[in-house]
Amino acid sequence: MKSTRNNQMLGLATAILLLITLNTLAAGPNKDSDSSTAAVQAWVGARIIDGSGKPAIENATLVIRNGRVEAVGERVKIPAGAEQIDATGKTIIPGLISAHSHVNDAAQFGVYLRDGITTILSLGGDKEFVLREQSQKAPAGTAPRLYVAGLIQDSSVIPGAVAVKTPEEARKSVDELIRNKPDFVKVRVDDFLGARQKMSPDVYQAVIDEAHHNGFRTAAHIVLLEDAKGVLRAGVDYIAHSVRDREVDDEFIGLMKKRHAFYSPTLTRELAVFTYSETPSFFQDPFFLKEADPTEMAKMEDPKRQDAMRNDKGALWYKEHMPIAMRNLKRISDAGIVVAAGTDSGGGPGRFQGYFEHLELEYETKAGLTPMQALVSATSGAAKALNVSKEVGTLEKGKLADFVVLSANPLDDIRNTRTIESVWIGGVRVPAKKQ
Ligand SMILES: [Zn+2]
Repeated sequence: MKSTRNNQMLGLATAILLLITLNTLAAGPNKDSDSSTAAVQAWVGARIIDGSGKPAIENATLVIRNGRVEAVGERVKIPAGAEQIDATGKTIIPGLISAHSHVNDAAQFGVYLRDGITTILSLGGDKEFVLREQSQKAPAGTAPRLYVAGLIQDSSVIPGAVAVKTPEEARKSVDELIRNKPDFVKVRVDDFLGARQKMSPDVYQAVIDEAHHNGFRTAAHIVLLEDAKGVLRAGVDYIAHSVRDREVDDEFIGLMKKRHAFYSPTLTRELAVFTYSETPSFFQDPFFLKEADPTEMAKMEDPKRQDAMRNDKGALWYKEHMPIAMRNLKRISDAGIVVAAGTDSGGGPGRFQGYFEHLELEYETKAGLTPMQALVSATSGAAKALNVSKEVGTLEKGKLADFVVLSANPLDDIRNTRTIESVWIGGVRVPAKKQ
């Protein structure tokens, strides 16, 4: 009797266990009821800005199948069985790309994503390879596509960097770095307004040569025109900040073109250095407040810090030189050089991730770029700089279905990139922030 009862109990336990297992399997490992979609989806009646720079397509249809764009245009046949979504009055843009940010923690993935930034080049830090792996393993819809540089090759040890003082040290350091397959090898050529020793040309030449020799692309942090020319002569692929001390000249433009180099203005990086001498108006923007870290806000609002910033040598220098950086952006863009939107968000105090990517586009237009040019810099332009144009950066047949649905048209006012209704990455909806 006893053994039969035990068997019955065992049977019941097995049944319950089986039921739990089946339920778990049905839910799937990466599924979320908010983010699951039909295999085929048709957004109908939208204004679509495809990111290529071509005019917006009005009253268009966007068909997504299995996480990729299947068709886009005015006369697109809606496939049988597609989930139809009325997008009348909405604007759909590609997922935004930041070609210069800093992701320091996986907890920041959601901040960028919810703000529509679906691809990021994190340009230097000590946890970047781990973060890249975490982003690749994260459940669908919860992490941006993350590209990284790893430790920055620098002339002295500062957080996120490694010091290389001779060409030999530089080559050894690059050899060590590339074991982790960085998406860029980054070098910093900056004396921080005279506060430190700057890397010498023979050392950055060795960094760039060693990277290229092994098939890796290079990015440079520069401030001054002469250093920008120096790294370009040394063969660098990507100028990751504005030239800020002087107006760029024909020689610089010529070097950029000869190298087919890309240019990221990071204007909001400058802004973050001097703007917190007072509380900026964007601290009242609901779109900012939605994701802003209150601890970081409190630091920037501290009257003592604000007072110190009013007389800070660096802050004053960057404030004075911001107009030069903006004029340089306009000249570089007019010359036909590919501009890649970047912010340096996450790379220092008050550089708010996600929000700064939108603020940067506003500053690009303040510098004289059209809203379309600003959008291109954060879509196909940035994709070119990252060498990922085959997959992202435009809404074209075959590309990954990374897109943002807006309630207002950013071509009317670039600040309308902030009117986000939903964000999709690989056809999966980015879930709302957990309260
Ligand atoms: Zn940076």
